[in-house]
Amino acid sequence: MFLKTIGILGGMSWESTQTYYRLINQGVRDKLGGNHSAEIIINSLDFAPIEKQQAAGQWDDMANVLAQKSKGIEAAGADCLLIATNTMHKLYPQVQSSVNIPVLHIADAIGKKLESESIQKVGLLGTAFTMEQPFYRKWLIDNFNIEVVIPGDEERSLIHRVIYEELCQGKCFAQSKSAYLKIVDQLHDHGAEAVILGCTEIGLLINQSDTQVPLFDTTEAHTAAAVEFALS
Ligand code: GLU
Repeated sequence: MFLKTIGILGGMSWESTQTYYRLINQGVRDKLGGNHSAEIIINSLDFAPIEKQQAAGQWDDMANVLAQKSKGIEAAGADCLLIATNTMHKLYPQVQSSVNIPVLHIADAIGKKLESESIQKVGLLGTAFTMEQPFYRKWLIDNFNIEVVIPGDEERSLIHRVIYEELCQGKCFAQSKSAYLKIVDQLHDHGAEAVILGCTEIGLLINQSDTQVPLFDTTEAHTAAAVEFALS
């Protein structure tokens, strides 16, 4: 069987890029069995300067870096590209226009899952950029007609802080886990039928066994879309 090569813009953070690597390989092995594994090209970036540029709002600078790295991944032989972070999908248009291979959008992957479960109103957890700016929510509304609700001010800053100060640094604390689960319940109480784990590290902290509220993990959905592409 001829496998297509998956390109990954990773390192944002590497804590979730290793999950991408594992889930894509597992997905290919589940489908093909034996010693099969995925063909993958990863360009893993240093997250510290990116995190500073995000906080400073220097999106044009980051777009240039991601475009240049994406061209390198394409030149190395990738047939598609994944931006392995929800937040950096703010720069999806610039990344897609820098290469000739398809860039598989993370919100398309999660939108299709939500659609298949007939979810019409969903809660969103992610960085402040992902929760507050239009680029992510608008994608779900425009392409899937799914209404997105976000947590309140205090909750959003807690979620954001835990992502950057804990999860991206490989730290998972019980206190943060219960805070996240409380916010999941609040979103559910506000009418969300399900909650999107819209940051690729959140699955390291909470998962479906922690709550009755249906969770949709973007890392799982994005990697599943990549496996489907590789086998197509
Ligand atoms: N990986 C995270 C996300 O999915 C946050 C890190 C970043 O800002 O890229 O949004």
